[in-house]
Amino acid sequence: MLPEEVLEQASAEMTDWHGTGMSVMEMSHRGKEFSSIAERAESDLREILSVPDDYRILFLQGGASSQFAMVPMNLLRGRDTADYINTGSWSKKAIAEAGRFCRVNVAATAEASNFTTIPPREQWSLNPEAAYVHYTPNETIGGVEFHGIPDVGAVPLVADMSSTILSRPVDVSRFGVIYAGAQKNIGPAGLTIVIVRSDLMGEVLPGTPTMFNYEVHAKAGSMYNTPPTYSWYIAGLVFAWIKQRGGLEAMAEVNKRKSEKLYAFIDGSDFYSNPVDPACRSWMNVPFVLADPALDGKFLELAKEAGLVNLKGHRSVGGMRASIYNAMPEEGVDALIGFMADFEKRHA
Ligand SMILES: *Cc1c(COP(=O)(O)O)cnc(C)c1O
Repeated sequence: MLPEEVLEQASAEMTDWHGTGMSVMEMSHRGKEFSSIAERAESDLREILSVPDDYRILFLQGGASSQFAMVPMNLLRGRDTADYINTGSWSKKAIAEAGRFCRVNVAATAEASNFTTIPPREQWSLNPEAAYVHYTPNETIGGVEFHGIPDVGAVPLVADMSSTILSRPVDVSRFGVIYAGAQKNIGPAGLTIVIVRSDLMGEVLPGTPTMFNYEVHAKAGSMYNTPPTYSWYIAGLVFAWIKQRGGLEAMAEVNKRKSEKLYAFIDGSDFYSNPVDPACRSWMNVPFVLADPALDGKFLELAKEAGLVNLKGHRSVGGMRASIYNAMPEEGVDALIGFMADFEKRHA
């Protein structure tokens, strides 16, 4: 979802942005109008996430999936190995891609629990020679989330925050690189945010394409080539919306409450269940299954009739998944719980 207010504003400005007679889509990315949009978006993001001055924010394309390659290309810096924590589907993709560039040490894996837990930090076998440690703070498909930042000492920590960025405050100074595809919790698809500590840039793997070099984009203010201007603009409206709602503290409060009431309902029912260890359940993605999977189709059909859509679980795991990102209002979660209770009464 995108916030209703953001869509309304984008709609009002669609054909004529601020009296320029142009849509944002029609602007030159190097013109003063778009430059002001781009700068404002970056400074608002810097403010809401409290990004320290020695970090650069890049507005790129290619999705989080491109970052699976860009991270090793930029961060190996002469080393030949990196640590990865395997907590599910997205971790696995990051691991597979990194394996094309270096030796991957899977320092911990939740495979034994079928990815319903996070291996305790004490059990991780980190390699002190690793160029960096990569992890996935929120596994979007499995609904598993870290509720704290792991301590990995002096080795740069890299996080794929695609489905959790901006859902709560985070201490950016603990990270070497944070990256996120925008389409889950920021704005439209097509934009990828990378936040990188400046001293980690400048030594890419030989053969790295220009477009995959963080430093090239940092030096060019993310305008080495044409950036995804419209997605950047909408992301800026979302950052302003977050600021206006009280920032990430306010987002966290609502997100925590939304997820807790949904988990409480699921746990209180014999008809629905969620397999994830309560200590690492996601605030953003709540997977659940029905006691009788034969009712899945009926559940989805009636949910759709009630205006509750996109509840089908990822094709790799089945069941249901409620993605309750920042823009999902609390009333949306209440409506889902009401529907689920009613469905249970009629079909259990
Ligand atoms: C969606 C998602 C991705 C993939 O993002 P793309 O932008 O489609 O490449 C990667 N990691 C996580 C955690 C995701 O949720």
